[in-house]
Amino acid sequence: MTSRPEPTLRPPSPQDQMNGPDLVVVAIDGPSGSGKSTVSRLAAQRLGYGYLDTGAMYRAATWWCLREGLPLGDQERVAEAVLAMPLAMGTDPASPTVEVAGEDIGIPIRATEISTQVSQVATNLAVRAELRRRQREIIGLVGRDLGGIVAEGRDITTVVAPDADVRILLVASEEARLRRRSTELHGTASAEAVAATRDQVVRRDRDDSTVSTFLTAAPGVTTIDTSDLTLAGSVEAVLDEIAAAMGRIRD
Ligand code: C5P
Repeated sequence: MTSRPEPTLRPPSPQDQMNGPDLVVVAIDGPSGSGKSTVSRLAAQRLGYGYLDTGAMYRAATWWCLREGLPLGDQERVAEAVLAMPLAMGTDPASPTVEVAGEDIGIPIRATEISTQVSQVATNLAVRAELRRRQREIIGLVGRDLGGIVAEGRDITTVVAPDADVRILLVASEEARLRRRSTELHGTASAEAVAATRDQVVRRDRDDSTVSTFLTAAPGVTTIDTSDLTLAGSVEAVLDEIAAAMGRIRD
């Protein structure tokens, strides 16, 4: 089901003024397993835009703090470490990269050890402020360079880029999300595999939703339900919404 909000006419926002009229920012949020990372990456590729995976930034922060031997519950030391984290995000949607101090950590940040602990770092408000600052900087720089950027996460439509030209919430039923994540992690969606995946989907979303709103759409955000869509169908639905939103802006 796709619900489209009424077009809203608005005066140029501070973001429009800062970025100029030619930069297109597409913000996509969604819970774990909604398909937002793959769909956002493929949509960015089709549009020739940059791609920013903000979840990878929280994962990198978690990896960095664990490597520094920090207890993740120590809010002050974790925030301090993240302020100093030498993170470089590669925003080419054909091959996005994540590097810390020159080390490619694209694979280690997907480990279960990170997935089960990332919410502890992501609920640290000082960490969120720092990563939000870096995300806005990347969105402005990469977007201006390429004419547009697709940024995805949990709080992009509401906090990081609430003035984005296109704002989408990708959702899917809990069953579909568990099935997808389980197949991704264990190669099967058997009952055992789904049970083993539940913590990484249901508990993580519950913890994450204490600091971000991504289970229901904020006003002006279009919901796209991918439960019954294939990957290609989800990409088309997102591209259709981007075209429709850009049409609304031009009208
Ligand atoms: O999207 P992904 O599963 O890689 O995100 C990892 C974690 O990063 C989430 O579980 C959440 O804790 C955090 N996150 C966030 N805000 C974002 C993106 C991700 O808090 N914008």
